[in-house]
This record gives sequence, structure tokens and C-alpha cells, in this order.
Amino acid sequence: MNQSQGHGEGGVRFSYEMLEFRPEWQFDDQETGAYYHSAVVPGKLFFTSLGGDVQYEVVQKTVPFIERVFADGVLKNCDYIRIADYSGVTKAGINARILYASTINRLNAANNCRSVVTYICGASQQLKTMLRIFSRIVKQRFVFVDSVEEAFRYLNSDSSVQAPAQSDGVVVTRKEIDDFAAMCGHFLFGRKDFACSASNYLAPDHPLNELYKIIVVFHDDLQELQKKEKEQKRKIEIALEDARKLNEKLVEEKHNVEEKEQIQQTLIENLKKARLEAESANKAKSEFLANISHEIRTPLHAIIGMTELLIETKLDKDQRYYTDTLYSSSKMLLMLINDILDFSRIDAGRIDEEREAFDLRQLLQDIITVMKEKASCKGLVLAGDIDDAIPGRLSGYPGYMKQVLLNLIQNAIKFTYRGQVTVTASVVSETPEEVELRISVEDTGIGIPAEHLHQIFQPFTQIDASSTRKEGGTGLGLAIVQKLVAIMGSEIHVESSEKEGSTFSFILSFEKVDDSDETADDEAVSIQFGQGNAGESENETEKQQVLLVEDNAINQKVARAMLEKMGYDIDIAFNGAEAVEALRQKHYGLVLMDLQMPVMDGYEATRTIRSSDKVLDRNIPIIAMTANATKEDRQQCIEAGMDDYVPKPVERKVMINMLQRWLPLNNDR
Ligand code: ADP
Repeated sequence: MNQSQGHGEGGVRFSYEMLEFRPEWQFDDQETGAYYHSAVVPGKLFFTSLGGDVQYEVVQKTVPFIERVFADGVLKNCDYIRIADYSGVTKAGINARILYASTINRLNAANNCRSVVTYICGASQQLKTMLRIFSRIVKQRFVFVDSVEEAFRYLNSDSSVQAPAQSDGVVVTRKEIDDFAAMCGHFLFGRKDFACSASNYLAPDHPLNELYKIIVVFHDDLQELQKKEKEQKRKIEIALEDARKLNEKLVEEKHNVEEKEQIQQTLIENLKKARLEAESANKAKSEFLANISHEIRTPLHAIIGMTELLIETKLDKDQRYYTDTLYSSSKMLLMLINDILDFSRIDAGRIDEEREAFDLRQLLQDIITVMKEKASCKGLVLAGDIDDAIPGRLSGYPGYMKQVLLNLIQNAIKFTYRGQVTVTASVVSETPEEVELRISVEDTGIGIPAEHLHQIFQPFTQIDASSTRKEGGTGLGLAIVQKLVAIMGSEIHVESSEKEGSTFSFILSFEKVDDSDETADDEAVSIQFGQGNAGESENETEKQQVLLVEDNAINQKVARAMLEKMGYDIDIAFNGAEAVEALRQKHYGLVLMDLQMPVMDGYEATRTIRSSDKVLDRNIPIIAMTANATKEDRQQCIEAGMDDYVPKPVERKVMINMLQRWLPLNNDR
């Protein structure tokens, strides 16, 4: 061997004592008794000692220990000498050998190092044969020695010392070769008589003993490889079978899932259908209620209107008592009908209001001012505590807000006999765009027993029959309040204790409205409607002539009675077309125009009047009479060219105000 090739340089001498054995590099397999011990002279020498029955599984367990040696960096970037002590190896199959060798190769490559020479100590003839075969593949130089001591000796000796002499040639006869070939045949094809025919080669002094050993190695390796291949084939078959079964299961599962999904889908659809049916049934009910209420309202108004007229005639004491009762009862009935109408409209999902800009503080003040009188009639104080920090203009539903607060304040006054009712509005939180407010109505009244608290928002529920009988009410107020607050995007809460009082509250978010773009539609409407032009359309006829355009006989009667009582002259047209005709023939001071009529409706009639050159006065004031005074209705009235509107059914007081504005009586001026 050539010492100048990378080891022993600089006269360094190595000894067993120089080896560093770290405990974490040593492995002893308890199960098989196999072992792997390693040590290094860092950067110079790598010592390994393998022993026992080295099966593939043993090498698998060994790998982490080999890895640890390299991981500790003791062999990084170097050419090292390797001493591999195999004297304890009793058996090592080809797969075990491959794994062991490939692990060391892999770690060498990863750590940029390699063994320039490997001293193999105490390897059996078989192992030597294996390693020789192997050395061709890994291009390593192996030096076979008997023991570790011998390895050190060679290592430290100078370059002239040669490796142990290899045996010289042997003489083999032709017969021996023939016999040997026959043995190989038996051997390789697994014949049973191989054992006896092979027995003579086992003798170490037989000239073909070594060759025999090599054949045995090949044979063993081949068998191991075949066994492994078979095993792997079996494994693949099992895996394939498993996959097939799994696939079958998957198909089945998929089928199940699909079935389940279908059932689920059907359930969902049924549910949807049921919900839709329920909703539409509820809607139909509400629509029905709304229609009924609407229909009742018209004759009821006739009763109230006529009663009002009757009250103003000369009556004796009994008659007055009867008419008063009639009046208050019909008013009560109207209140109930109005509530039902409201409730069923909201319940049917009809939202008449649109979001608009309004001044909440002003709205609250106005409501408090209106309700103060009612409170003081009962000896109560109605106080307002309105946060100055509430922005001037907010976007919301002023109509709903008003309805909610009126309801709550009315209830508070109704169910309080001593003390005060307080309306509070305070800022909860605020961002540049939004403000969150808490609005509450608190009273010091009779309170609501805890067990009834959950009922009060149910329609037609009244807790204390005696007090509500005393105070009146429909049992719908809070149901309406709850729905309106929900439409506005919040939830109404109540806290109450018996005999102490109740607090109804809700928290609402409002968008702030820039004060500069303050031309809210609402104002536009009121400006247009508000400019009475009584002066312009001054009428010099002795009695002011009013043309009433109305198809409903009861409404005609009520309006006629009211207007005549006020001193106006009345003509009646049954629809828009008749009205246009009447205005061609006769001078009138004012038109009261119903909207929904057969033949020609109020809008079209107005447009015709405004654009016709055949009517005597195309600028005549036209007042709409509308059942649903929604913003849209009002807008439509304006667009058609009307001047103002009165809500239907028409109330006497409202009618008087309206006519005084648009067609004042001569004797009034
Ligand atoms: P009502 O028209 O009868 O007032 P509501 O729906 O407004 O109908 O109220 C339902 C019931 O809840 C009332 O009859 C009353 O028993 C109870 N209630 C409502 N508000 C108050 C309050 N502020 N104090 C005590 N009880 C109240």
C-alpha cells in the first residue's frame, strides 16, 4: 500500500487509544445482540465495529447512530482512513449490506468527505468476497487484515511495508472443475443432493474452497433478493387488493353521500315550501286583515263624521249622552281598526317608509310637547332628557320613530298614576359616519309582573284586564312597536318591576347626514305643499264652489255634510272624466280629488286639467284625498300637478284647516 496517498502524512502515528468513542455513537441491539460501535480521530480516522447477526432491520436501527457521527461534524470536508472491524459479524445479508454501505456513502457525499482507504478487520472469507465485489462498485480501496491491531500496525508503518501477501496460484484438475461445475448446477437450481456433493469443498485445504465460498455468497444473495422480491410482490398485491376494496367502499360511500344529499335536498325543499306556504298564509291573513280594516274604516269614518255633525246640532240631555257615547265608542273602534291596519300591514311585510334625513332631537321635542298635555291631565310630569351631542341630522325612519315613541309614551302615561315619565336619548358610541343612540321611555307606573314580561309584545295581549279596561287600548301597541323597531334594525327591551315602573328601550344606529346637503325630500314636499295660494285663486263668487271627485257614496255623503256645514257649495263628480267635464262648464274655487276611481283616476284627471285649454281655470287648486299618505303617494300627487292632500278618511278638523288655507270663505275674511 502507498502511505503517501493521504494518510500517515507528517509522521502522524495513530493508535487505538487516540480514538474518541462518544456514547451517543454506540448502538447495542438488545433484541438480536448485534452491535455497531464507532469512534473517530476527528478529520483523520473513522473506526467502526459491526457485529452479530446483521439483518436488514438491525442496520435500519443502526442508521441514526451513523448519522449522528457525521452530524457531529467530526468528519467534515476531509479524506479519512477507515478501519472497519467485522470480526464479530456472524451473518450479513445483501440487503443489510447495501443499506449499511449506501448510508455511509450518502453521509460521505453530504459531508464532503471520503475514505481513501478502508482496513477491513477480521472479515470471513465470505465477507471478504462480498466486499471485493462491492469495492468495484464503490471504487474504494479495501485492505484486508486479521485484526484491528494489525490495521493500526499497517497504518503506522512506512510505505515500503506491503499489504499481506495474497495467495498464489493453485493446481486444479479437469475432473475437479467438472465436479465443481456439476455442484454449481445443483446448487443454483436448488437440488437436494447439493449438500452431499458440496461437502468436499468445505475443507479449507480443498483447492476450490475459496471459489466455493464465493458461489455460496452469490447463492445466498440471490436467494435473499428473490425472497425480497417475492415479499414485495406480495405486498404490492395486498396493497392493490386493499386499494380495490377501498375503492369499492368509496364508491359505496359516494353513493350513500349522494343519497343523503338528495334526502337533505328534499328536506330543505320541503322546508322551504312549508315556510313559503306558512309565510304566504300569514301574509294572506295580514292582507285580509288590512283589507277588512280598510273597508271598515270608510263607513266608520262616516259614523264619526256624522256624529260630529250631530253633536253640533241642538240636542236634549239624553240625546247628547247618546251621541257622546256613540262618538267615543266609534273613536275607540277607529283606534282599534287603525292599529290592526298598521299591524297587519307591517306583518305582511309592507314597509311604506323610506330612509330619509331628519332631525331626531326636534322630533323628540315635538312629541314631548304634544304628549305633555296628556300627561299633565293625569297630574304626571313628562320630562325629556335629550343629549346635546346627538347630531342635528340623521338618516332614518322618522315616521316609524314617531309611531314607536308615541306608543311607548302613551302606554307609560296610561299605566302610571303618580310620578313621572321620562324620555331619554343618549349617545352610546360615535364614529365620523355613524352614531349609536339609546332611546328609552321610563315611567314610575304600575309595572309589569316578571311572569308576564314575555307576553306583552304578543298581539292582543293585555296584562291587567281591570286597568286596561279602565284605560282602554287594543293590545296591539307593543306588537307594532316591536315590529317597527325591528324594521329600523334593532330590538326593543323592557325592564320592569311591579309597582315601581317600567323602562322600554332600544339602541339604534343612525348614519349622520352632512348638514350642507340638507335638501331632504320631505322638506321639498312640504315646501311645495305648504305654499297656499289662496290669494291668487281668490274667488269672488258669493259662495265658494267646491267640486268633489269621489266614487264612494258614503264618502260623498260625509264630505258633502262636512263642507255644507262649513258653508261651501258642493258638486259631485263620480270620476276623473266627469270632473274634467264639470270644470269646462262651471267655475269652481277648488277640487277635492279622490285618487282611485273607475274610468279616469285622480292623477290622470289632474294632468288633463293642468294641460287642457278647454277647462275654465286650469290653475284651480286641486287637493288630493289619499288613503295611504306615503311619501311615494305624495310625490306622485305633486308630479301629477296637485297642490296639497288630505289623508282619507277625511277628518272634519283637517278638512276645515285645508279649506281655510286654499279656499277661505268670504265671510271668514
Ligand atoms: P295596549 O293597547 O293594551 O296598551 P300594548 O301592546 O301597548 O297594548 O301593551 C300590552 C300590555 O302591556 C298592556 O295592556 C299592559 O298590560 C302592558 N304594558 C304596556 N306598557 C306598559 C307600561 N308602561 N307599564 C305597565 N304595563 C304596560
